[in-house]
Amino acid sequence: MTLSSTLDSPVRYLKGVGPARERLLARLEITTVRDLIFTFPRRYEDRRELTSLKDLVPGKVTFVLARVVDFQSRKARSRKMTISRVVITDGSTMAEVVWFNVRGLEKIMVPGRKLALYGKIERKYGRLQIQSPDFEIIEEDEEELQEMGKIVPVYPSTAGIYQKWLRRTIRSSLSLHLQDVREILPLWVMEKHSFPPIRESLMDMHYPSDRQSWSESRTRLAYEEFFLLQTALALRKRSFQEGSGKAPRCGLREEGSSELLSSMLDFELTGAQKKVISQITSDMAGNVPMHRLLQGDVGSGKTVIAVYALLLAVDNGYQGLFMAPTEILAQQHFSRLKGLLSQMGVKSALLTGSMGSAERKNILSEIRTGSIKVVVGTHALFQDDVSYRDVGVVVVDEQHRFGVMQRNALKSKGEAPHMLVMTATPIPRTLTLSVYGDLAVSVMDEMPPGRQPVDTKWIKPANLHRLLNFLRKEVGKGRQIYWVCPLIEDSDAIDSTSLGEREEFLHQAFPDLHIGVLHGQLPQDKKDRQMEEFQKGNVDILLATTIIEVGVDVPNASIMVIDDADRFGLSQLHQLRGRVGRGKHKSYCILLSDPGNPDALERIRTMCTTNDGFRIAEVDLKLRGPGELCGLRQHGVTDFRVADLFRDRELLYLARDDAFKLVEDDPSLGNHEELRSRVFSELGETLHLVETG
Ligand code: ADP
Ligand code: MG
Repeated sequence: MTLSSTLDSPVRYLKGVGPARERLLARLEITTVRDLIFTFPRRYEDRRELTSLKDLVPGKVTFVLARVVDFQSRKARSRKMTISRVVITDGSTMAEVVWFNVRGLEKIMVPGRKLALYGKIERKYGRLQIQSPDFEIIEEDEEELQEMGKIVPVYPSTAGIYQKWLRRTIRSSLSLHLQDVREILPLWVMEKHSFPPIRESLMDMHYPSDRQSWSESRTRLAYEEFFLLQTALALRKRSFQEGSGKAPRCGLREEGSSELLSSMLDFELTGAQKKVISQITSDMAGNVPMHRLLQGDVGSGKTVIAVYALLLAVDNGYQGLFMAPTEILAQQHFSRLKGLLSQMGVKSALLTGSMGSAERKNILSEIRTGSIKVVVGTHALFQDDVSYRDVGVVVVDEQHRFGVMQRNALKSKGEAPHMLVMTATPIPRTLTLSVYGDLAVSVMDEMPPGRQPVDTKWIKPANLHRLLNFLRKEVGKGRQIYWVCPLIEDSDAIDSTSLGEREEFLHQAFPDLHIGVLHGQLPQDKKDRQMEEFQKGNVDILLATTIIEVGVDVPNASIMVIDDADRFGLSQLHQLRGRVGRGKHKSYCILLSDPGNPDALERIRTMCTTNDGFRIAEVDLKLRGPGELCGLRQHGVTDFRVADLFRDRELLYLARDDAFKLVEDDPSLGNHEELRSRVFSELGETLHLVETG
């Protein structure tokens, strides 16, 4: 039986792709024929210049065609390494090729076999060598010979998938189905940016003819990826507005608690706080649900904003929910809020997963009747057995930990409550637009007065004794210290200091001090007790994992020591640093590290030179890409095949403007069928888009 394939057929419909290869391709996120066509080379090999072996020049990356003459392989004496040497000839002279630790070569390097080799020429012991080149066996058929003398694509690969095979498979997908690929960009977009047609761009990406046209094609394809996502976000933003008319109007009441709030604080609001409060006031007064993201570096004073939004809902007779990512944080928020709220006669409660069932039952019933107005908790707030009387606003702290999906779950709990999402993780603008592009964004770019920047110092482990002296002095002044380790237990696999090891070490160094230990594997009551003791000042040094990363607030703690600092990402380091510098004391962040590579060094240097969270996030984006940054991988929307959020940011802004304009003019995309179907098939599920009309 022969099945003819289409663009959207699974790859197994193609000749030469069976179940095994299908699984391997899935690892490269290739499941359909279209995916194959949209899998682009990670680099190219310029084979336009074939070099004769007698003309090899040391230091140059060279392409040669030659036959195998001899093969030898041996184990190096000193190290666990296999060295394979192959002598080759092209008739002009002979040359030597060397590979290290490549298995299975003896089966391939059969004398007489013809190879294409692409690699750097090195001079070793006076002789010329080609070291660890990319190579292919040349079967002397038409197709292979065609690729000689050209710029050859090198695709992302995985074990078990050979370049040669992938090249052939992509080539045949293109020849079968390139004509089925449709233009999704509106004509006015194509004209405005002078983009080449899609099929031309695809061919150019796989088989570029020159740099100029390749670059135009790449730009077009990167733009297209941004455009698809931004169109989806624009549609979703519109769908929020379909809750229009349903959101509870929460207007400002004279003498209401939200009005009273600032008079009850013992500080003056910053300009940034006032600005955000007025944005929220106008959002919540309307009957279109607010969807606002509040970004503000640690310590910028987001809690006050949260309380304001909650009170505004309560003033209007609705309930307010405040969700935190962990129990520790939920408890901490609750203990800070409770006092303030009860002074205003607002009843609040904490709801967590670890709560006893009798207690929980009571609280649930008061939540249902509405006598409890403000509920603070973890995701337990949205379990099935919790029902609310009337939710006016949901405030979510550190939402990037939850993902977009929960946001919709939250929405389904109330009618169409207002949503305020807060994050202390500064995200570069390009990433914000990609992941939260459907939200209104407020940035708190001003710190409360009197805050001193944290001094950040890099210390190599060899100078640990100096650090210990310093810590002793600070403890002598009454300060407290966080000491963060990457691991709980010793691990053979990772060469890194563990919490257990450090605990022993610190007990020896400071036999007279109180040392607390906090990590995720402790039972909840132990965690709580440790935190409480530290908060009360009974613990001098709190040794912890990154569990303390987000939100924990102990103003008397003025030193953050980070062990093996190069093991952490930049944004995480910045978060950790934000745990100190919260009181009136001069604060320090000490990075213990012996960075093993240039990226690690750049991270450490960046930390030592800036306190600006947004700058740090930009560097993080550059070093690690969007997936690793602030755990956004789960969203999947930033896994672009071509576009790069760092390099292509200008393109993103263009695509966003165009896409939002398009959706405004044609909200159902009725005149853009092809675009519409791609948006829904590629992003519909991830973004929970609902098809209408
Ligand atoms: P964030 O949640 O943004 O990290 P918080 O809301 O926890 O910051 O505020 C950090 C600290 O600053 C808290 O102790 C808070 O009481 C205080 N604070 C907030 N706003 C101001 C202000 N306008 N002036 C002085 N202190 C403030
Ligand atoms: Mg906070």
